[in-house]
This record gives sequence, structure tokens and C-alpha cells, in this order.
Amino acid sequence: MSYKHIKFPEGGERITIDGDNIKVPNNPYVGYVEGDGIGPDITNASLRIWNAAVEKAYNGEREIKWVETFLGEKAAGIYDGDYFPLETLEATKELIVNIKGPLTTPVGGGFRSLNVALRQDLDLYSCVRPVEHFPGVPSPVRKPEEVDVVIFRENSEDVYSGIEYQAGSEECDKVTQFLRDEMGAKFHDGSAIGIKPISEFGTKRLVRKAIRYAIENGRESVTLVHKGNIMKFTEGGFRNWGYEVARDEFAEFTITEDELYNEYGGKQPEGKVVIKDRIADIIFQLMLLRPAEFDVLATMNLNGDYLSDAIAAEVGGVGIAPGANIADHVAVFEATHGTAPKYAGQDKVNPGSLLFSGVMMLEYMGWKEASELIRAAYVQTLDDKIVTYDFARQMEGATEVSTSGFADAIIERINGDIDIEALRAQREKQLEQERKEREIKRLLQPLEEMVESGRMPHAVGDVMTRNIISIPSDTIVDDAMHKMREHKISSIVVEPSDASGEWGVMTRRDVLSRVVTANRSTSSVTVDEICSRPALTVTPETSLHDAADFLTKNNISRALVEQNGKIIGIASETDIFDAVETFGWIPE
Ligand code: NAP
Repeated sequence: MSYKHIKFPEGGERITIDGDNIKVPNNPYVGYVEGDGIGPDITNASLRIWNAAVEKAYNGEREIKWVETFLGEKAAGIYDGDYFPLETLEATKELIVNIKGPLTTPVGGGFRSLNVALRQDLDLYSCVRPVEHFPGVPSPVRKPEEVDVVIFRENSEDVYSGIEYQAGSEECDKVTQFLRDEMGAKFHDGSAIGIKPISEFGTKRLVRKAIRYAIENGRESVTLVHKGNIMKFTEGGFRNWGYEVARDEFAEFTITEDELYNEYGGKQPEGKVVIKDRIADIIFQLMLLRPAEFDVLATMNLNGDYLSDAIAAEVGGVGIAPGANIADHVAVFEATHGTAPKYAGQDKVNPGSLLFSGVMMLEYMGWKEASELIRAAYVQTLDDKIVTYDFARQMEGATEVSTSGFADAIIERINGDIDIEALRAQREKQLEQERKEREIKRLLQPLEEMVESGRMPHAVGDVMTRNIISIPSDTIVDDAMHKMREHKISSIVVEPSDASGEWGVMTRRDVLSRVVTANRSTSSVTVDEICSRPALTVTPETSLHDAADFLTKNNISRALVEQNGKIIGIASETDIFDAVETFGWIPE
């Protein structure tokens, strides 16, 4: 396609689409929009850093051929007052990978926000925001280093769909009448009305992207964030469709959190991403108290809007958070802050948000060596306390530099002697250690872990006691009683005897009723004689409702939990009682 003002430099090649992925040549065309206000300052600084990193990482064999496209005030100057030229839209689609600075939305009627227009016109349905902490960046929380998540926020539906009616308007009265008369809805007179559409299509394409990202980047889990306990069909639908897409399309690479506990005993199998879900309000708390447990979050539009800014604040504020809006392939990476007009042209502000949007972009292109180099150089620069004004005012002993001075400092370190391999190994070791610690907790304290991690119990496997004690069937009752006392347990599992081949269970009650009451000696009776055999069993998948029903109908207080012919735990009245006491009981 030919363009009027957009120029493709010599020697570049186009990025193309290859199935689910993009194919990036060594000298790809990539689009950029300078942006308004502080846009030119941060864009020029960032372009220099990106170019230096690519050159160093690939010994000059790769080079981005930048194509400038125009939006906002610069576009208006070139295209006769048009802030949103059609050819920019066309070029953005053709270029596939693009990055942009902040844009001013012209004040006055008739203008859509340029960012919203871009999102809608290109159907950029996923807003992706990675949030991680860099050592030295001022933060309001105690352990910001534990925050390392990527948020995939659905960008096209939910209450942002624009289906909203002003209170008292003719449309609102019509909708009100319909809802009351035809649907039996009850709400206050004079209400304004908004509609919240959540579709299977919209949910699945977003969650699919989040899961694919987690698999490709070796992340531990994807968490579906929702308020399905209140909004069953919209937010609950998001949760259910999310699990469905994992099961139907990524079964080889994913397990659910229930399976993690019930089939793998809390030990995460190699190469599997855990799909879990959390209630939206609880996730805010968890991201403050236990952020290390979350890797990739998939959210609807409104929840994601709140959540991404709240989490970004934990690691140093929205001012340096990067972001991207991505369709199936076309991606627009962007600074998440605005144009900060009072600093325009002063070479003063922090280029961090745009710089790291570019780091994301390099990762999207598969150029991880260059992105790692920028990260490492950024960390070194902060370590040396070389920062722009915004960090300088929060750090003691900092050297304040300009936007371009900050870029110079990073480039100097990129061209220095950074040992990427050593840094990668160190990071992997640390991640592995954290994973192990979490695993040990899951294995040893499943109920406590469940309470603290916000997970709701669904089945026997979630609440059963795993560390069962079993004894051979010829054990003398005396010895069995000592063992029970020593381990503070009220029942003990009896291994199959040669005669029966069935598992048994002996309880305190059995000793009282069949030995003491019968006036027999505890040292001359074996457990085989007094235990209940065969012990009744349930499976880890048995729902809490069915397990309670089973215990009641059989008049027993505990059942063994059997999986593939093995006894893996005991589920007792106490376990179910404790879970219901802690989490409450929502009728199934
Ligand atoms: P803003 O431009 O983000 O600026 C608010 C404050 O944030 C600044 O005064 C400054 O704080 C700090 N800040 C922002 N970027 C910074 C950077 N790179 N380095 C250091 N500090 C930074 O928000 P706004 O003033 O509300 O919006 C201004 C214009 O931007 C509006 O026209 C709005 O429509 C537009 N906007 C565009 C986008 C976008 O294109 N994606 C997003 C949001 C807003 P201090 O004053 O404390 O130094």
C-alpha cells in the first residue's frame, strides 16, 4: 500500500503472520508514534536505547527499521487538522508491531479519545500490563520484589461497551419499562441503566492469549479473576469459559488448581501451568499479602482497569508501568501515563514506561536477548542511583539526570560488561527456590494454605488429611494406641490383611467398644480383630456435599480417600465441619 506521509526506510522487511505467531525478519519494519507533550522526549531517548540493545545483542546482525506514523497533534499539523488519519490506521495494521507515546485528546465536543479509537478500530481486545519491581525503584510496600505478574485485561466488552442510558431519558424509560414489565426486574425509580455484556467469544480469545503467554514464558499459573459469586452469568461465565478454554485447547499444558491438589498432592508437575480462579475483591488483598503466588491474571475489563493500576502502584506507580493493546496479531505497545504537558520539551521526565513497553515489544518479537540487556542495564543504572527527577525526589543520595542523560547512562551500561547468562541463572535459581517453598506449604498445610491463598474448597481432596498413618493388620492394639497418641490422631489406617485384601480403619471408639467394654486385654488383641473392614472409601473428587451425605447415611465419622487403588488420605466429619465453618456453605 502507498502512503501520503508515512515513509518506509530502505532495506527493511515486513513482519508477517505465521499461524498463531508472527514472523520477524532480521531487519523488520516497526511503527512508532512519537506522541504529544513529553512524547518526543521519551520517544527519542527510548529509540536510542532500543537500537543500542539490538545492535549489542545481535552484533549488528539485526536492526529495527523504524517507520514513523502519526497521531495526535503532530498528525493534525501534517494532515490538515486530522488527529487520527486513516493512513495511520492502515499502516498500523500492515506493520503489525507498533509502539506509541502518549496522546492529547483534544478538548471540546465531537472527539473520541484517540487511544479508545485506536483500540476499537483495530479491535485490540487484550490490554496487557506486566508489573514487576526493579531493585531501587521506590515502593510503598515491604516486599515489592515479590510482585511479578502480567495482567491480561479484556478490552472490548463489559460495562465499557457503551450501552448506557441516562436517568430520565426516553431510552432509559423504555429499557426500564421492558425490564420491569417483561422481565420482572426490581430497582429504584429514576435509575440510570448500564448493560454489562460478557461473551464466550470475548472471554475465550482473551483467556487463550493469557494461557498461551504463560506456557511460552514458563509461568506457573493463570488466575481467572471474577466476581462470579454475585454476578453468576457474566462474571461467573467468564470463569467457566476460562476453564473451558484451558481444558479444550490446552489440556496437554495445563491442570486446574483442584487437580493440583487432588491428583498431584500439591506438587506442581513439570511443564504444566496451573489454572486457578479468585474472587475479584480477594485478589486485591492477595496481591498485597501474597503477590508471589500470582503470575498471569486474566480479567474482565472493569476489574482489570482497577487491578492494573493498583498493582502498578505497588512497584513504583503507574508512571513507569508499561503496557500494550493487542489483537490476534497486531499490537500497539504504549506508555501508560499521559502527555504531562507541563514538562513538554524540557528533557526532564522518566522514559521508563515507554522504554519498558519497548522491552515488552522486543519480547513479543522474540528478541529476548535485547530485552534482557535493557533490563539488566536499567537495574545497574538504578543501582548507581542515576535517576530522573521523579525518582530523585524519593531516593536519598540520588544523582538526578535529564531524560536524555538517563538514556546515555543506560546505553553506557548496555555497551559495558553485563553478564546476561549469570543474571539469568541467578534469577532462575531464585524462582526455583520460591517455587519449592510454596510447594512445601501446599503439601504440609493444605487447609491453612487454602484459607490464606483465597482458594475455595470444592471436594474431599481439598479438605482431607493427607499425612495418614497406617499399620500392618497384625499390630497389637497397645502399639497402635501408642502410635495414635504420639501422632495425636483419633483413627489409624489398617493395611489389608492376607485374608481379606481390604483396607481397614481403627478408631478410638473401636478400642473402647471392642476391647475395654468387652474386658479384653489391649496387649493380646490385634487391630485386625477390632477394626472396621472394609473401610468405606470416597475419592478426592467427591464433592463436600456428597461426602457429608455419605458419612451421614453410613453412620460413620470418617472415610478413607482412595485414588487409583491407593489410600491417599482420610476425610472426616471434622475436616468437612472445619471447611464449612471457615468458608461458609453456599448451596450447590
Ligand atoms: P499525566 O500526563 O500522566 O501526568 C500526571 C503526572 O504524572 C505528571 O504531572 C507527573 O507528575 C507524572 N508523570 C507522568 N508521566 C511521567 C513521566 N514520564 N515521568 C515522570 N513523571 C510523570 O496525566 P494528566 O496530566 O492527567 O494528563 C495529561 C494529558 O494526557 C491529557 O490530555 C490526557 O488526556 C492525556 N493522557 C493520555 C494517555 C495516553 O495517551 N495513553 C493516558 C493518560 C492521559 P508530577 O507532576 O508529580 O511530576
